[in-house]
Amino acid sequence: MKDKKEPIRIKNLSWSYGKERILDDINITFFKSGLYGIIGPNGSGKTTLLKSISRSLMPKENVVFLGDRDITVFSNKELARNIAYVPQDIYFEFEFSVMDIVLMGRSPYLKRFHSESEYDMETAKNAMQITNTWHLREKNIAEISGGERQRVIIARALAQGTGIMLMDEPVSQLDIQHQVEILGIIKRLTEDKGMIAILSLHDLNLASQYCDHLILLSKGRVLKQGSPQEIITEGNISKVYNTKVHIFENPFTGRPYIIPFSN
Ligand code: ADP
Repeated sequence: MKDKKEPIRIKNLSWSYGKERILDDINITFFKSGLYGIIGPNGSGKTTLLKSISRSLMPKENVVFLGDRDITVFSNKELARNIAYVPQDIYFEFEFSVMDIVLMGRSPYLKRFHSESEYDMETAKNAMQITNTWHLREKNIAEISGGERQRVIIARALAQGTGIMLMDEPVSQLDIQHQVEILGIIKRLTEDKGMIAILSLHDLNLASQYCDHLILLSKGRVLKQGSPQEIITEGNISKVYNTKVHIFENPFTGRPYIIPFSN
């Protein structure tokens, strides 16, 4: 898999639904490989931000840049060769096999009326081996567990061969074993393949343990961004989540660990 990563720059991004301002003057640069976590309470704008970066919601011109180019000028295929976006709820209407699903990741490279090449098949296989889904290839997507399904969805995003992966709450539906497994896979992709992975995460402790950099949203604005140690503080978390918390240092990782105050 080639490293095709380009930095992503967001300059003065705002977004409104009707009269309601949802994102307000967001400025972020993702310039090097790593695992970036977007955190913030429900409704703070995490999904809307990911949709704007992936162009699921078309931003205004000259607001979101991939490398030096405004993402509004990319063709759909060209964008899909650079950014893989995994939304929160993916429904497969038909009963596809796992192999079919992963091969869909190759569609940005297919010419009209052409089927997959050997290279496409190899890339899909490689993505399935990395995510430990190769043995599931002939199974129907409806027949596998939630954790397996999430790995298949990551395999499809990986088969897209992009340097950038955006994922909206990729582990919120999973038990702790599968949360750790999925986040471990994504973390390794950032380390071994130099990918930029941008994830919205609900669970602050997982975000703290796995992410290199956190972006804390509050009411559509970036309240702070920085290392987990800089962001996961009693002051920041109590303020944004309106909840008193204790913060400890995880003795195994040195990362902050949150325990809510109980009354
Ligand atoms: P988060 O992911 O942090 O929970 P969202 O980006 O999903 O936040 O939502 C931010 C705000 O935008 C919420 O107040 C939500 O109700 C509103 N919102 C999201 N999608 C729509 C939509 N399609 N139409 C109108 N309002 C929306």
